[in-house]
Amino acid sequence: MSGFDVNQVRKDFPILHQEVRGRPLVYLDSAATAQKPQAVIDALVRFYQHDNANVHRGVHVLSERATEAYEGARETVRRFINARDVKEVVFVRGTTEAINLVAQTYGRKHIGAGDEVLITQMEHHANIVPWRMLCEQTGAVLKVIPVDDRGELVLDAVDALLTERTRILAVTHVSNALGTVAPVKELTRRAHAKGIPVLVDGAQAVTHFPVDVQDLGCDFYAFSGHKMFGPTGIGVLYGRKELLDAMPPYQGGGDMIVSVTMEKVTYNRVPYRFEAGTPNLEGAVGLAAAIRYLEALGMENVAAHDRELLAYATQALESVPGLRMVGTAREKSGVLSFMLADVHPHDVGTILDREGICIRTGHHCAQPVMQHFKVPATSRASLALYNTREDVDALVRGLHKVLEVFQ
Ligand code: PLP
Repeated sequence: MSGFDVNQVRKDFPILHQEVRGRPLVYLDSAATAQKPQAVIDALVRFYQHDNANVHRGVHVLSERATEAYEGARETVRRFINARDVKEVVFVRGTTEAINLVAQTYGRKHIGAGDEVLITQMEHHANIVPWRMLCEQTGAVLKVIPVDDRGELVLDAVDALLTERTRILAVTHVSNALGTVAPVKELTRRAHAKGIPVLVDGAQAVTHFPVDVQDLGCDFYAFSGHKMFGPTGIGVLYGRKELLDAMPPYQGGGDMIVSVTMEKVTYNRVPYRFEAGTPNLEGAVGLAAAIRYLEALGMENVAAHDRELLAYATQALESVPGLRMVGTAREKSGVLSFMLADVHPHDVGTILDREGICIRTGHHCAQPVMQHFKVPATSRASLALYNTREDVDALVRGLHKVLEVFQ
């Protein structure tokens, strides 16, 4: 793989080079949040040391610099996801806020009693709860595309679920609980054939493979900086400009207005209309640094590394006696969710932690898909571009230890 050497990549992430619990750290929890390369840390420090000021309103040099950095970050995001127009990039706190924004603006305007919102069984709560709330507020009905026992969407069910009452399809690109990659381009094609807009939750996708929103054809695409090696508290809502232009504001306050009197407010143009208050400036700057870092590695190279490591890890875990993978979709990315014999996932996680291995256990904010698989929780190891076969081998050794303790 040209241009991608995982041992070089690891050197860029200072946090990885430490011992925890007397063992070398093995970090397999990047689906929860990813670690940060030095380039991102440096960008944050540089911003605070040289450029910090409030944006858009200032006439002084620091405000100009901060505004350039913030708007430059918007252009960097546009390029990364291949949006047509920089105005289609709205900075938000993260995926959760992006989806709430769409539900409460687009949703409140276009979705009413008896209308339908279509999601899938494998959504993160961030792509369920905002729609449930909207349904409760408006009398709309939440419909669900089922998953099968591999954790793949039942595509045969989709056309019948896209009805003349469906007002939006909201679907995850990659399931954080199963690793399933959903065929979002095909789903978008089918929804658009019936005039239905599509929101894609890309929180677990942008970090693993190239995403081109024009190629996907979706109307909204949401993701979080912290899962893609950038800072927390910054994320992106991509929206097609025609849709954003027609959407009412989300939160009210500074920056999202053109003029205010006590009688009347004139709202700003997009994307500023959706960015009330002082934005997360250093977050945007850090996110742009993370994107430049990914671009320098090459997203195709990152994707190839992830694919190769996931295949290796799948095989390695399946060799552990009593391990049952939860989610065996033919197209997966980044996530290995599993049950180990009859050991509770919490115990698996606790014993691995003693070995210096960080995984996540629980329902992964995806309780409906846990219900489908009839488990309250799983153990989840998740991979990122800095993980190695040695990390996977350490996990397998750790799982054998768990079995020794409990059997
Ligand atoms: N969607 C998916 C698929 C996720 O994995 C997550 C986080 O785990 C979210 C949404 C929510 O992201 P955030 O907490 O950054 O808003």
